[in-house]
Amino acid sequence: MKQYYANGTRLEMEQINKEEAIVLIPLGALEQHGNQAPLGTDYFIANTMAQRIFDQFEDTFPLLVFPTIPIGLSTEHKHFCGSITYKPMTYYAMLYDICASLAHHGFQKVVLLVCHGGNAPTAQMISREIRSDFGMNVFVLQSGAFDDPRVQATISKGNTFDFHGGEMETSMVMAIDENLVHLETCEKGHIKNQAFETHLSWLGEDFVTEDGKPIGIGGDPSGATKEKGEIIFQVSVEHLIDALRQIRQFH
Ligand SMILES: [Zn+2]
Repeated sequence: MKQYYANGTRLEMEQINKEEAIVLIPLGALEQHGNQAPLGTDYFIANTMAQRIFDQFEDTFPLLVFPTIPIGLSTEHKHFCGSITYKPMTYYAMLYDICASLAHHGFQKVVLLVCHGGNAPTAQMISREIRSDFGMNVFVLQSGAFDDPRVQATISKGNTFDFHGGEMETSMVMAIDENLVHLETCEKGHIKNQAFETHLSWLGEDFVTEDGKPIGIGGDPSGATKEKGEIIFQVSVEHLIDALRQIRQFH
């Protein structure tokens, strides 16, 4: 009974077994991703990841794919032209209200699919609060399997600290639509994490991407290809399907 949430009618929703259904909410962002990749990079990745998960599941899997949330928490990018961000408490309230509505209808399991690191802390807070307030389980999954050795193998030699707007994310957008990427304009970004290098652990996540001089990205996108993006999607979907099967068994 897999289905896209927005495609269902009220009558169909009434029929759904809310105890077993898993509502997957992809969390995107709208923020700068270097010279070469679009503002909607995380939105496109979130959307495509959810579609691919949906396509690969058997019809009987109780998955409801919720519309992708196009904007997230991107305060660290706000000085770069085009970036749009919620304030933390706006983002929290928006996600809380969606989850509270789902709980009100009797759903028991929601998965927040985090496709932008800045959204993760809020997703964790929502997970705790919603369970505490409604008894509904909110699971948090990271969308890209960036630590998997098969994904790591796609990174070009000498490209260190590849993350935001780097080779991996750019490759993923190319796998979606090569026309969205303008690789000829790309520049190298931050090649190391200064917070770790200087042992200033109090800096924590509190850096802005301008720190990643000159252009607020991590790594070097120049080696990005559509084929690499395909590998990253395939491996990530494999991890996520496995996690969703475990969530189905969770009681
Ligand atoms: Zn991104």
